[in-house]
Amino acid sequence: MAQSLVYLDHNATTSILPEVLEAMLPYFRELWGNPSSAYHFGNQISRDIDHARAQVAALIGAEPDEIVFTSCGTESNNSALQYGLLANPGRKHIVVSAVEHSATMRFCRRLEQLGASVTRLPVSPRGELSLDLLAQAVTGNTAMVSLIWANNETGVLFPIREAAEICRRKGVLFHTDAVQALGKIPVNTSAADIDLLSLSGHKLHAPKGIGALYVRRGVKYQPFLLGGAQERGRRGGTENVPYIVGLGHAAELTRHSLAASAARMRELRDDLEQAVLQRIPNAVVNGGSVHRLPNTSNIQFAGVEAEGLLMLLDQAGICASSGSACTTGSLEPSHVLTAMGLTPAQARGTIRFSLGRHTTSEDLARLLGVLPGIIQRLRAASNWSDSPR
Ligand code: PLP
Repeated sequence: MAQSLVYLDHNATTSILPEVLEAMLPYFRELWGNPSSAYHFGNQISRDIDHARAQVAALIGAEPDEIVFTSCGTESNNSALQYGLLANPGRKHIVVSAVEHSATMRFCRRLEQLGASVTRLPVSPRGELSLDLLAQAVTGNTAMVSLIWANNETGVLFPIREAAEICRRKGVLFHTDAVQALGKIPVNTSAADIDLLSLSGHKLHAPKGIGALYVRRGVKYQPFLLGGAQERGRRGGTENVPYIVGLGHAAELTRHSLAASAARMRELRDDLEQAVLQRIPNAVVNGGSVHRLPNTSNIQFAGVEAEGLLMLLDQAGICASSGSACTTGSLEPSHVLTAMGLTPAQARGTIRFSLGRHTTSEDLARLLGVLPGIIQRLRAASNWSDSPR
């Protein structure tokens, strides 16, 4: 009988929870009207969108009118960055870190082509951000600072509260990409000086293709997508009603399960790392000694190419990844790991395991049953030796 899949790639995406799917189905079948229509059939759906808005707001300590639904985390990040420049026509400088997701990195390159300047803050070998460097980088020309809250590759957390406070003091807009943070650690916009925050449904057991941008009350946001007056004029385009309802439902479920599932994932992740480090020589957990997500483990195996390792794990029914799913297939070593000072060979010998709320100790036992042997085989095949020759 075929073995069940061991899915250890929850930072890439998560399954849609059955309850979330159930909540969505009526909006494909019976409640398919346009929420902007003036008749009752439309009004009802518009109210259901607002219910989802309140559910998402509750997860991040926001008010419902601070939530704008988007198509994904990528759109939320692009929209926030563009708004930074639109809001401050006299300022042309953006500050980000060197370890942002490609949804920020690539949009910054576009902004540079359009005449903006971008500072990419370096990180320490453990993946940490220096608040001093941040404070120094912000000038009178800075329109926006945008920082990833939890790194998608390493799980390393940036000090978002303190970074937001610096920006508020200096009168600069602050955006955070909280796509990976949400659902894994508490995120509370009311306790921090965050102006804009991106989130994405498919990291939270909602479908792919739905996200949201939190826009703090008082921020005079200007839309990225121009069209109709949907989302109170903050995003053109007819709303993706079933997905919005799904995201709302997933947000509510996450709010109730977060503390327990984070504690479970942390325990399992820590056990996994301990076992890997005990059984496999010359393995290093990148960012392992700093404040990081409870579910993510980014491990470097000397003398191994991640590509071959992932293929052999796949043959054993285990899903993991190297770097971000959005850059899979790229021959370049991870920009996150090279920013942390890893050599290209070290970066190419690194893979990420990311646990989810349904990961079990049996899943990890399956992984540990095959991983040491695979590493040994790959090292033997490449004639790698840890003793100096
Ligand atoms: N930001 C981070 C940190 C991510 O990990 C991702 C997706 O992996 C995104 C943004 C993009 O989100 P989406 O896939 O919804 O566009």
